[in-house]
Amino acid sequence: DSRIHAIKSKIRVVPNFPKPGIMFQDITTLLLDPKAFKDTIDLFVERYKGKNISVVAGIEARGFIFGPPIALAIGAKFVPLRKPRKLPGDVISEKYVLEYGTDCLEMHIGAVEPDERALVVDDLIATGGTLCAAMNLLERAGAEVVECACVIELPDFKGRDRLNGKPLYVLVESH
Ligand code: IMP
Repeated sequence: DSRIHAIKSKIRVVPNFPKPGIMFQDITTLLLDPKAFKDTIDLFVERYKGKNISVVAGIEARGFIFGPPIALAIGAKFVPLRKPRKLPGDVISEKYVLEYGTDCLEMHIGAVEPDERALVVDDLIATGGTLCAAMNLLERAGAEVVECACVIELPDFKGRDRLNGKPLYVLVESH
């Protein structure tokens, strides 16, 4: 698909951000190009339309950029999965391990009903820890996670292996 090459070319790689040695994949430059941004959303919508997905769960912060337009286009609700203490209602939480320390994602209780079919959206998968925590939240609420979708995969981190066999769909890989 020729759209993929254009999308990849719009993602800026910033060396040594936010720390020395990290090659940061910056999707803000993709958002500056309306055609490439629309193609990104369209590729996901083409894949998920008609698949009976009732909830798109987006991971803070960049899952909040890609998730909502996908949700609107496929007729699903959007549920934000947020960093701790951001959601005002009662929540369930999932801690996960980072390179240094731990982090946590939270979801409002009642946002998702048992047996809903869910798609989890984020900008990027590295180790897979974040997506794994997101899937756990949805499954604890009784939802079925149909697939995880990211714009970028960093395959060297082998995050795919941490998703317990759950399918992962990505548009571009970066090494
Ligand atoms: P993981 O949990 O190791 O798979 O890391 C994925 C999470 O870290 C996602 O929420 C990403 O937004 C974020 N992340 C890690 N590396 C990058 C990057 O290079 N660019 C943008 N986000 C990143």
